[in-house]
Amino acid sequence: MSALAEVQTKVYLVGAGPGNPCLLTKKAERCIQKADVILYDQLVNPFLLQLSRPDAEWIHVGKTPYTRTTKQERINALLVEKAQSAQVVVRLKGGDPAIFGRVTEEVDTLREHRIPFEIVPGVTAASAAMSQLGRGLTERGVSTHITFTTGHFKNNEENDIDLTTLANDGTLAIYMGIKRLPELMQAIQQQIGIDFPVAIIFNATRSDQHVVSGTVSTIVERIAVLPERMGPGITIVGHVVRDLDEAVLHPGGDFETVLVKGERHQAIEVAYEWAETGHAVLIDDRGWSDLHPTQAETIARWIDEMTFTREISLT
Ligand code: SAH
Repeated sequence: MSALAEVQTKVYLVGAGPGNPCLLTKKAERCIQKADVILYDQLVNPFLLQLSRPDAEWIHVGKTPYTRTTKQERINALLVEKAQSAQVVVRLKGGDPAIFGRVTEEVDTLREHRIPFEIVPGVTAASAAMSQLGRGLTERGVSTHITFTTGHFKNNEENDIDLTTLANDGTLAIYMGIKRLPELMQAIQQQIGIDFPVAIIFNATRSDQHVVSGTVSTIVERIAVLPERMGPGITIVGHVVRDLDEAVLHPGGDFETVLVKGERHQAIEVAYEWAETGHAVLIDDRGWSDLHPTQAETIARWIDEMTFTREISLT
């Protein structure tokens, strides 16, 4: 029996972190490298998929924030189907799969079908965003607890969010809250009546990161002037985001979008050097490896959609 044949089928529910490739855990990287099939979400950085084997199948199962293109039931069914034919299946999700990642629904399905699985945690958006602000999510004497909440609810029910955290001097991190920001800020004003500092971090840890700061009463008008498609944004409310440094709000430096052309392993090394200093990267190895058709198609589409400021050819 070959070493590969001895590997038991397993589904890894993996957190891809906030987008910066350097914030992927070692375990997540190893899962991606071993995968036969990767089912990935919208928020996953494309370059992270390129850490996989050239013959791995890539399946996009993402939902964009306002259109539900792939139903959770379909993802669950696909996970089971792929686990029946492949040995290592990776379900790659943005951030930490256990925070607003619907991981329990997938775990329940896998349990029902007696498919072995493992959850691999990732760096969640709130932690990533705060690291960029140079602050802590909790702070001695300022905020003793943190609540992760969402502004987006199942079937778009207009549920009220629980603001008791703010009333008790905690930090509130709101995921998926940009669309409902006016209602959320109004609720804070009405229920708590304190004009807390607020920071919104778009694309935290990525080359296109953008921070907007204000207070509960000013933040809505400050983000109203931004372009429509800013990418994912997380809202942090509480005294921990008071008086942010000017360098955080208006960072200098031009970030590039780099396309590295060459053999995958070699290109990954070069790409990481750029990623480490904050640039966005993608690899084009279509001429070098025998890629799975899903990879060749996906890479072609990304290259088509992205605008690169630099191309590096390795030969
Ligand atoms: N499981 C993910 C959250 C998924 S919900 C995690 O742990 O981070 C999707 C929401 O996460 C987005 O609407 C946004 O609020 C937040 N988010 C994810 N990645 C982000 C990033 N790089 N920057 C800012 N917010 C992000």
